[in-house]
Amino acid sequence: MKRYCRNTDFSEIGTSGQEMLSKSRAVIVGVGALGGVIATNLARAGIGKITLCDNDTIDIHNLQRQILYDEGDVGSQKLTTAVDNLRDMNSEIKIEGIQEHLNAKNASRIIGSSDIVIDGTDKMEPRYIMNRYCVEKGIPYVYGGVLASYGMTFNIVPDATPCLECVFPKTKEFDKLPTCSEIGIVNTVPMIIGSIQATEAIKILIGANYSKELIIYDVWIHSFDKVPIKKREDCCVCG
Ligand SMILES: [Zn+2]
Repeated sequence: MKRYCRNTDFSEIGTSGQEMLSKSRAVIVGVGALGGVIATNLARAGIGKITLCDNDTIDIHNLQRQILYDEGDVGSQKLTTAVDNLRDMNSEIKIEGIQEHLNAKNASRIIGSSDIVIDGTDKMEPRYIMNRYCVEKGIPYVYGGVLASYGMTFNIVPDATPCLECVFPKTKEFDKLPTCSEIGIVNTVPMIIGSIQATEAIKILIGANYSKELIIYDVWIHSFDKVPIKKREDCCVCG
């Protein structure tokens, strides 16, 4: 336990919390900017089993913010590089890689037996799939999204919080939202939002009090908002 003594010395985690983390399985969908920060934090914190899911290759413009990748990795699969780097970080935990994009058909196989699902994607479609699957199966899901100078995160805990579609109802326009490839991203934003997601995941896994509000942080103007979200009665997922 010496490895995790800074965790266990923190009274809110303690030895019992650390043991719970060591027995937990987290699935991180997407290992880009957010996913890299989430995976790094959870691997170092000693989450017992981490499953990564991604099917992209590393591009030179990823290096600005995707902390698991270096110049020599450009052109390689994100998944294999991420798994190798995380195993170097912590050889005492299990790291598994699934080289697929999450979809409605493979969701059960990829996230079915997890204790928590954490969002490292940059698209709404897989988020809606994670949200629906996790609500149905009673698995906590930590949403995160970043764009330009700000990011958001929200914990979806079945029977305890509203769901993602209560916050962002699915419309025909959801795939037309602006993306980082169009309006850019300040590279510190995913570090902050991914770290908040990892912290919330740890809190949920050990049964500590987690955030029930939509957290919005803007690094350019330093605004930090916690927005209360109400369950929508007519939500097609959790209503
Ligand atoms: Zn809902």
